[in-house]
Amino acid sequence: MAARPQPYLDELNPAQRAAVEALDGPVLMLAGAGTGKTKALTARIVHLLNTGRAQPNEILAVTFTNKAAREMKERVGRMLGQAVEGMPWLGTFHAICVKLLRRHAELVGLKSNFTILDTDDQIRLLKQLIAANNIDDKRWPARQLAGIIDHWKNRAWTPENVPGAEANAFNGRGIELYAQYQTRLRELNATDFGDLLLHVVTILQQHDDVLQQYRRWFKYILVDEYQDTNVAQYLWLRLLAGGHKNICCVGDDDQSIYGWRGAEVGNILRFEKDFPGAQVVRLEQNYRSTEHILAAAGGVIRGNQGRLGKELWTEAQGGEKVRLIGHWDGEEEARWIGEEIESMQRGTRGMRAFDLDDIAILVRASHQMRAFEDRFLTIGLPYRVIGGPRFYERMEIRDAMAYFRLVVSPEDDLAFERIVNTPKRGLGDKAQQTIQAVARAHGVGLVDGARIALDNGDIKGKGGAALRQLVDGLARWHGMTRGPVLAFDENDDAVIDDGAAPQVRYGEPDLSHMELAEIILDESGYTAMWQNDKTPEAPGRLENLKELVKALEQFENLAGFLEHVALIMDNDKGDDGAKVSIMTLHAAKGLEFPAVFLPGWEDGLFPSQRSMDETGLKGLEEERRLAYVGITRAEEICTISFAGNRRVFGQWQSQLPSRFIDELPEEHVEVLTPPGLYGGGYGAAAPARSGIETRASEADVYNSPGWKRMQERSSARPASQPSQSRGARSTVLDLEAVSSHTVGERVFHQKFGYGAILGIEGDKLEVDFEKAGVKKVVARFVTGADD
Ligand code: ATP
Ligand code: MG
Repeated sequence: MAARPQPYLDELNPAQRAAVEALDGPVLMLAGAGTGKTKALTARIVHLLNTGRAQPNEILAVTFTNKAAREMKERVGRMLGQAVEGMPWLGTFHAICVKLLRRHAELVGLKSNFTILDTDDQIRLLKQLIAANNIDDKRWPARQLAGIIDHWKNRAWTPENVPGAEANAFNGRGIELYAQYQTRLRELNATDFGDLLLHVVTILQQHDDVLQQYRRWFKYILVDEYQDTNVAQYLWLRLLAGGHKNICCVGDDDQSIYGWRGAEVGNILRFEKDFPGAQVVRLEQNYRSTEHILAAAGGVIRGNQGRLGKELWTEAQGGEKVRLIGHWDGEEEARWIGEEIESMQRGTRGMRAFDLDDIAILVRASHQMRAFEDRFLTIGLPYRVIGGPRFYERMEIRDAMAYFRLVVSPEDDLAFERIVNTPKRGLGDKAQQTIQAVARAHGVGLVDGARIALDNGDIKGKGGAALRQLVDGLARWHGMTRGPVLAFDENDDAVIDDGAAPQVRYGEPDLSHMELAEIILDESGYTAMWQNDKTPEAPGRLENLKELVKALEQFENLAGFLEHVALIMDNDKGDDGAKVSIMTLHAAKGLEFPAVFLPGWEDGLFPSQRSMDETGLKGLEEERRLAYVGITRAEEICTISFAGNRRVFGQWQSQLPSRFIDELPEEHVEVLTPPGLYGGGYGAAAPARSGIETRASEADVYNSPGWKRMQERSSARPASQPSQSRGARSTVLDLEAVSSHTVGERVFHQKFGYGAILGIEGDKLEVDFEKAGVKKVVARFVTGADD
């Protein structure tokens, strides 16, 4: 074939070009963020096609997400100068394995039209098995078993080869139940997600003819984000590449962020051993970010041990330093970012104007999104959530809201249908049909229908008892709702606006709607359902529920909140036009944006509490890599922020700035002044700051370690001088012997109430609280009781 023009090669630097032109044999591109690994991988596909080495369907190219696969396909077309006709084997591990498994399903006892179970079906099946084995599913819940089996499948362990060390799993019954589960799946002609890879690996291991067929078929194999492959994926790749060894993997050990999902960064470090003679290409020029952004990211990741250690450079000198800003609380953080984005659209402070599509907000935990979504909906700033549903569309949020809706309006039948058997109450289709029929016959709503059905004895047994509890609960909670509090009278009873005339409500004057929401979620068993859930998603769902309760604070009552959500969700149809992107750091892997906001850099949130509580550094190092991934997504502007206070389940919690902030090299950071604290003042205008008088005063925040640190930063210090704060957290704390308090002084703490100071240690006070007893607390959240 005549050589075609190769303009795509001219866009590459010599190292990239070497990786692209080394068509045969194993190639590893191990390089830092933004060095053009994905670009080179894409160019390699183009080069394979362009030189006639392979047809589109002879290339196996694995990406981490479907979105990445789509983009790669588009880019190949663009570089090639013509649309690619079918690249059926360019996709995620899962997508490719489904296709392979359909062709060979019978080899693992399935038919080619097998179904793929979702998590709910999977749990239901495991529940049945647990019951059939006479195991108490209260102590040994199905979700826990699902987590264990998933873990085993990620390691490519079939029931026959789960190692002996795991024999104790699930009270010693795990392996046996796993075998039963696999049998049951076969009977149902079904797989779960983990099976897709596991079955394909099994087929390739046991059927040499099939293996050889695919080794011939897939002439070239390419893998992006190789550092995040798990054992099963690794085995699969090794099997397929084992013949010709034409495999090109790209990745970055510093960006390995899926250890919690069974990924093994060791896979990439072992590549040269697995494929002797591999050509290893290192890329050092970063084409994405400015010097300051790159240096900040490098400063953070340097804190990890046992790295390969890569130094990156960029031609993009100058530009904005990484911006750091502290806020009073999470709501203010969202407010500030909203306003900052609006001014960035216009172009301020000497910056160019940014389009909304240029801007991303990357959060550590999905519950952080709520504050931004609420704020952006309120100010009409278009946004999209990438890699997951938007906050109010999440399953647990919709469930919880269905409870609230029913409490506010008991005739909301759709809400009733949603939650009648969530959590599971033993009310199957039959019981639900009975309720429907009774309700129809009496011309009433489902809640009343349920009550009548119970009274008539139509629904009995366990399910009946649980339904009775639900119906009684709904009535009780309904009785606890109230209209806006107009005032408190001299007896501290609430004066309530119940629509008609203001009336005094005695009894529970201080039960807020936030507390009511918690009561509803607790007493209905909904919170417990997720607490007992052992899947990796469960902690996130619980966080989201806490976040939901927090959102209520801005409203007078449950009804007002529900109305707000209904309106904002309705306002936001239509999907065209530029939008700010909101996503988790995990979902941002491989992406890039001109401007990136990284909110919530606080110990306990980022790094996560779990990683901090762990013994050993493994979890913390994975969090640090996540920080590195976050900063390196930014091209021009990177803004890191934290808040001094966050409300968790109705309680203000004081937050310390993230330890990763200490690790940012100061000469590349600019500290911004938050308007809320230095008199610019959103504070007074915000409608919902009802708790403000119980919180620490602004002066306390000025005195906090985080602020002091920021002050030190912003006063220009020569870059060569060692930083006082970096790696010397305790020094900063010690400097801060809070002198404004004295032993014996009577003080007020937002969580524990009144007490007397017994002792002072640096920024910590030992206080004998009248109600809570003796506790050590952080001084900045204590105020003099007479203030
Ligand atoms: P990550 O580790 O974050 O996945 P990466 O190494 O895959 O990053 P790419 O996304 O391929 O990096 O490239 C980063 C940016 O640099 C892209 O905008 C890309 O177009 C650009 N780029 C890569 N190589 C070059 C080059 N040789 N010349 C100009 N721009 C380049
Ligand atoms: Mg990439």
